Amino acid sequence: MNGCFELATSERLRLERVEGTIFDIQRYSLHDGPGLRTNVFFKGCPLRCGWCSNPESQQRPPELAVFASQCIRCGQWGDACPDGWHAQPDEHWKQNARAEYARRAALCPAGGVRWIGERRTAGDVLAEVKRDAVFYEDGGGMTLTGGEPVLQGDFAEALLRLACAECIHTAIETCGHYPWPALERLLPHLDVVLFDVKHVDNATHRAHTGVGNELILANLRRLAARSAPVIIRVPLIPGFNATVEQILALGEMLVGLDGAITRVDVLPYHTLARAKYAALARPYPWQGQAGLSDEEVESLAGELRGMGLTVTVGG
Ligand code: SF4
Repeated sequence: MNGCFELATSERLRLERVEGTIFDIQRYSLHDGPGLRTNVFFKGCPLRCGWCSNPESQQRPPELAVFASQCIRCGQWGDACPDGWHAQPDEHWKQNARAEYARRAALCPAGGVRWIGERRTAGDVLAEVKRDAVFYEDGGGMTLTGGEPVLQGDFAEALLRLACAECIHTAIETCGHYPWPALERLLPHLDVVLFDVKHVDNATHRAHTGVGNELILANLRRLAARSAPVIIRVPLIPGFNATVEQILALGEMLVGLDGAITRVDVLPYHTLARAKYAALARPYPWQGQAGLSDEEVESLAGELRGMGLTVTVGG
């Protein structure tokens, strides 16, 4: 889809000024597209998956977070900041605490209290991405992820077009839940789409992600009909889809897309995000679920391989 091309100076300047909200730029990722990737994490997502490993990605506005493990007890406020942050005895306390912690975020020397999410221009972000260009020679590039990049369409398109003009390989990871034209406009500037598929049953999908899967599967069918380069991403979640029955149903749906889908990345559930929920003073919804053993993950991946799909564990 994507190819190197020239941008007129006026158009480049316009694109460089487009703003969006991101919460991180992660370098040297090996799991989010081919080669070594620089991941740009967009803020804001239409889903609310109970197991989400990036809860800071869900809401669009910047959020306050308190990371107790990073506090160096600087002594500015008496007790260390995290004390009481997670207790939330009532909404009144929470509002007062937020105002107080917002004040402290500006003065914390350790990143213990900080805002997550900031407005950036596409030119500013691309300049940061380009610092890694030397590592892209073996097929790496930039991946837009989140959160849901497609929901910030102007910003995503600006980043992708600027990257294309620099001959940087482009990928997007997407949950698929939006009207088709929102993704269609980005396709000419994308080398690969990492498309998340979580469950084939609509009611179960809605119960655990907050939305049904009709729009997602319709968008996947449109991508397949165009023979767009797609890699399916399946989170393996105990208590949701990590059973032979569910994985076979998902595999059958993929195989039924006329051979357009050949590669699947399965992403095993983990509990590493628990500390982030605490930092955001939010309950961890997927409480009590243990992770899968390597043997269980390999067994489920093997079911998909048995259907003729190429499967990678971990992306
Ligand atoms: S301002 Fe930062 S370092 Fe100081 S007590 Fe608060 S979290 Fe700890």
